[in-house]
Amino acid sequence: ELAKAGWLLNLQHLTLGDRIGQGEFGDVLQGEYMGQKVAVKNVKCDVTAQAFLAETAAMTKVRHKNLVCLLGVILHNGLYIVMEFMSKGNLVNFLRTRGRALVPTQQLLLFALDVAQGMDYLESKKLVHRDLAARNILISEENVAKVSDFGLARVNPKGADATLLPVKWTAPEALKHNKFSSKSDVWSYGILLWEAFSFGRAPYPKLSLKEVTELLEQGYRMDPPEGCPPTVYALMRSCWELEPGKRPSFKKLTEKLQKDCPGDRGQEGT
Ligand code: ATP
Repeated sequence: ELAKAGWLLNLQHLTLGDRIGQGEFGDVLQGEYMGQKVAVKNVKCDVTAQAFLAETAAMTKVRHKNLVCLLGVILHNGLYIVMEFMSKGNLVNFLRTRGRALVPTQQLLLFALDVAQGMDYLESKKLVHRDLAARNILISEENVAKVSDFGLARVNPKGADATLLPVKWTAPEALKHNKFSSKSDVWSYGILLWEAFSFGRAPYPKLSLKEVTELLEQGYRMDPPEGCPPTVYALMRSCWELEPGKRPSFKKLTEKLQKDCPGDRGQEGT
C-alpha cells in the first residue's frame, strides 16, 4: 500500500548522521535524503515496527504547515521513519535553554497560534492526537512550531494502557472513561499553553498524579504562569472546562489567537 503511494524510500539515498534525540521506541538521528536535511526515527523492534507502519498511514493523509512532514519510510533494521528536520528541537528544550530574556511574549503567541492551526487541521480531518504536549511540538529553523507524533498515538502503549497515560496532560473524561476526542486534545492544548508561558516548566509542580486527578474534579486549576497575559490565561481556563462541550474548538482558539497576535512573524534572532 505504502509502496504504491510512493511512501517507500530508497536506503541508498539516505545518509545518517548524529543522534539528536531518543524516543521510546528507538533513536532519532539527523540525516540527509537526496540533498534534504531529515530526521530519522529508527524503530528496531519488529512487532512495534509493524504497528508503526500501519499508523504511519495516518501521517500520509495529512499535510499542513504546522504538522511535521513525513517524507516516507524505509524497511531496514526494523523501520526507518523519515521526517523533515526541525533544527531547533522540541518546544520544551527550546524554551528552557533560551528563557524569558531571549523569547518575547509575541513569539510564544506565534507558537501558540501555530499549534492551534495544526490542531484545527487535524480536528477538521477528525483525527485525535491523544498526546499533545510541548515535548511533541518541534521548532523549525524559521521558528515555525509544528505538531509531531500525531497518528502514532494509538500504537503507543500510552494509548492502550491507562497506567501509562500522560496524566497531567490528559482530560479527565479521557483518563476516567477513555473518551478521547478533539475536545480532550483541547484540554491538553491548555496544558501546552501553560508550559509555553512558563518557559518549559513541568505542569502541576509538586503535585503527584493521584493528587492532580482528585483536585481537578474539585475544581482546582493551575494559576497563570508569571507574566502570562490575562487573555492567554482565559484561553487556558476555557480549555480546562470539565465538560468537553464547553471547551472551545481549535477553530475558535485559532480565531481568538489571531486577534491577539497581530502583525507578521517578526525578527527573532534566537
Ligand atoms: P514520545 O512518543 O514519548 O513523544 P517518541 O518515541 O515518539 O517520544 P519523539 O518525541 O518523536 O520520540 O523524538 C524524541 C526527540 O527527538 C524529540 O524530542 C526531538 O528532540 C527529536 N526529534 C524528533 N523528531 C525530530 C525532527 N523531525 N526534527 C528534529 N528533531 C526531532
